[in-house]
Amino acid sequence: MRRFYADLHIHVGCARGRAVKITASRQLTVYKILYEDAPLKGLDIVGIVDVGSPLVSCEIEGLLAGGLLREVRGGGFMAANGVLLVAGCEIETCEGIHIIIYLPDIMSIHRLQHYLLSRVTNLQLSTQAARVSTLDLINLNVLVGGIICPAHVFTPHKGIYGCWTRCWKDVLGKQAAQIKVLELGLSADTDMADCIAETRQLTFLSNSDAHSSGNVGREYNLLRMAGKNFEELRLCLYKSAGRNVVANFGMDPRLGKYHRTYCRHCRRIAAEEAPVRACPVCGGNAVVMGVFDRVAEIRDSEQPIHPLGRPPYHYRVPLKDLPGVGPRTLERLHKAFPSEMYVLEQAPLERIAIVGGPTVANMICAMRKGRLRIKAGGGGYYGKVVKGDSHY
Ligand SMILES: [Zn+2]
Ligand SMILES: [Zn+2]
Repeated sequence: MRRFYADLHIHVGCARGRAVKITASRQLTVYKILYEDAPLKGLDIVGIVDVGSPLVSCEIEGLLAGGLLREVRGGGFMAANGVLLVAGCEIETCEGIHIIIYLPDIMSIHRLQHYLLSRVTNLQLSTQAARVSTLDLINLNVLVGGIICPAHVFTPHKGIYGCWTRCWKDVLGKQAAQIKVLELGLSADTDMADCIAETRQLTFLSNSDAHSSGNVGREYNLLRMAGKNFEELRLCLYKSAGRNVVANFGMDPRLGKYHRTYCRHCRRIAAEEAPVRACPVCGGNAVVMGVFDRVAEIRDSEQPIHPLGRPPYHYRVPLKDLPGVGPRTLERLHKAFPSEMYVLEQAPLERIAIVGGPTVANMICAMRKGRLRIKAGGGGYYGKVVKGDSHY
């Protein structure tokens, strides 16, 4: 068995010279993700979730024709530099939630596009509101041989728990059992999710949902698999045949932009005991519910109950978001070490101190120990790392 770093939720901004996802950077192309961003960050597997757009599948077919990608036995697409591309499609259902379907090959991509064609207004644009229900997507996923994964499940913005239901079985019935994987989202972690009983048997993914190069790999997963291909990924996410997720790495949930409830009127992020449903200052309910508050509202236990074999969740902050790491320090760190993940996980602190200075080394030391001081985010505003005084 081998271990691979994977970020399975990355958006393409532009394909075939045209916009794919309006909110994503136009610089973010399939080629750039595979050949620049993944190696810089240290990712072995990347999931690109816009292949519902024919612009993106054409781009992939162009890279296949040019020898920059090849289809792999077992599914998936291998870049010449060894990075595996997993094709995925993030779809907004008629319930207003985001679901990702990962697909094994070009044929399944075309079948999914064909299905969506009559159900979205503009197929070229990604994450379009589709005239399909979540149950329809569960069935479609079986037909195309995909892996289905509700995205950022707790966010008030398009998350299945955040804005639709407090119990999957209530709305999906028996079909809920078809879902074996969920994505935690930036504002949640394993401890929060394991307070909910019905997801305890599920695999948790921590992905970046990157809309720009800088955010690729801000969350990632360490996977144990025998090789890099789609079927191995399926075994891994379904915890079969000795494959599994070994660890999740992600932002401290307080850094997420929907962590606590936010009052639009007072422009204030709540710090009171969760769940906060209305603004404690003005009493109004023009609030954006926080993920932490939502979990407190729907949880089955106050403390997390981890199932046997639940991987650890390690808090990580992208280098660019650490106080004291400006563009020049970032460049020096990237030049001196093989990848950003190496700096975050393994690089000796003494070497980091030589390259980036003692303040940066102290920050990374505190991060590895989970001791960074953090101001919580909410209402679309990210949380922040506050300068502390820990020493390595
Ligand atoms: Zn989404
Ligand atoms: Zn997304």
